[in-house]
Amino acid sequence: MLTSYHSTRSLDNPVTSKQAILTGIAPDGGLYVSDQVGDARPDLAQVCSGSYHDVARTVLGTLLSDFSAEEVDACVRAAYGPKFDTPEITPVTPLGPDWLLELYHGPTCAFKDVALQMLPQLMSRARLADGEGHNVMIVTATSGDTGKAALDGFADVEGTGVTVFYPAGKVSDIQRLQMVTQRGGNVAVAGIRGNFDDAQTEVKHIFADGRLAARLLESGTVLSSANSINVGRLVPQVTYYFYAYSRLVAEGAVRLGEAIDFCVPTGNFGDVLAGYYAKRMGLPVGRLVVASNANNVLTDFITTGTYDRRRPFHKTISPSMDILVSSNLERLLYYLSDGDCELVASYMADLADKGAYTVSPEILARLQETFACGCADDDATRATIRATWEDEGRLIDTHTGVAKAVLDARPSEGRPRVCLSTANAYKFSTDVLEALGEDTTGLGDFGSMDALAELTGIEPPRQLSALRDAPELHDDVCDREAMTAFVESACARVFS
Ligand SMILES: *Cc1c(COP(=O)(O)O)cnc(C)c1O
Repeated sequence: MLTSYHSTRSLDNPVTSKQAILTGIAPDGGLYVSDQVGDARPDLAQVCSGSYHDVARTVLGTLLSDFSAEEVDACVRAAYGPKFDTPEITPVTPLGPDWLLELYHGPTCAFKDVALQMLPQLMSRARLADGEGHNVMIVTATSGDTGKAALDGFADVEGTGVTVFYPAGKVSDIQRLQMVTQRGGNVAVAGIRGNFDDAQTEVKHIFADGRLAARLLESGTVLSSANSINVGRLVPQVTYYFYAYSRLVAEGAVRLGEAIDFCVPTGNFGDVLAGYYAKRMGLPVGRLVVASNANNVLTDFITTGTYDRRRPFHKTISPSMDILVSSNLERLLYYLSDGDCELVASYMADLADKGAYTVSPEILARLQETFACGCADDDATRATIRATWEDEGRLIDTHTGVAKAVLDARPSEGRPRVCLSTANAYKFSTDVLEALGEDTTGLGDFGSMDALAELTGIEPPRQLSALRDAPELHDDVCDREAMTAFVESACARVFS
């Protein structure tokens, strides 16, 4: 039977996973969910004897059942090839008494690659399912990291294109270079005069522009987004929870069937939600620990049951977790309420209208059965990065530092614990160098990278060090008002 997806806010208008992936967000503003998650359970013994690619085929085949086995296989091969610097894709290594799940071995050195190398492959096939075969142009505004991961994932993928806008002058040297050196015949990059919110707001206008959509459709093109709420980004992340488990079994750290815990540095709640999907699918997961930085709205929510975004926004050294509205939480609420769409819709309406909602005592109890939480501010994170280097000889980035600080502060519950590591330390060289007690004044991104390498003897990843000499291919900078025209001309160029 085909897995069917519907909105978290309504059972009407079910779609296939291919349609959900193409559309991204449901028309009523909800997120696509499937009631069949957990109906079919991967065989654990078989998972534990397979490679990363085998596990990915099993997980994708289970959750995206309207993709044929051949399609899934082709997607897995294309997504997880030599762009990752290890055939293990997400290795697991010991870290003191715990384990580190290294999610940063992809082309942009951060965990979003695991999903954003796969999403374009899924989309490229999904677009053919309705018989029309439209070309898909991805449009994204980025504050730095997601843009590059999307560019790299979509570059030269058949039937797709990608346009990225970043706030000119407001991203780091390395982030800018990562984007403007991107190769591919179907990519477009522009800086915009304004900040990230300006870019984001204008991208929303572009998606809502019916006349633009009609003009593009005439030439066979539809717009879509690579947003982290897309089913095609969520599902690939489930794989590495199963894979990590299989590695711990192989290492003898856990016996097949016994539970392990995960600690996840969290922003939009996509990564940790994938862990919850794995648990529903039968993976023995004890606890999922949600780690936050000073923007600790989720710590409060998991502790009290009240989600309140009316609070100051903190700019931290773990910027990918600087989020006050964790969109993917809506999916968890759907499952914890046993699929009560009306209730989920009412919470989301309260969040939009009042800025807060409180879940029922039953939902809170179920939430706390599986989820634990904790937060670490910048000082605690720096101290943890330093201690991890000095005590373990391991260099961790600022996001991983938050998770490790939270994990270290928790008493052991007797189960093996896996800390998810979401970026290579060199992606945040300046902050990591500072955490190690060094003066970074005037160094710049590459100066910090050199100093960090000198200090630790650890080589920066080639993906980052090579940026220094890579040719800059995109020099467009435009006003916000010109973004629509930029997208249209990119479509014309890419799909001509
Ligand atoms: C996006 C990101 C996160 C947060 O992941 P979510 O799925 O948004 O919770 C954590 N660390 C890094 C490095 C990221 O890029």
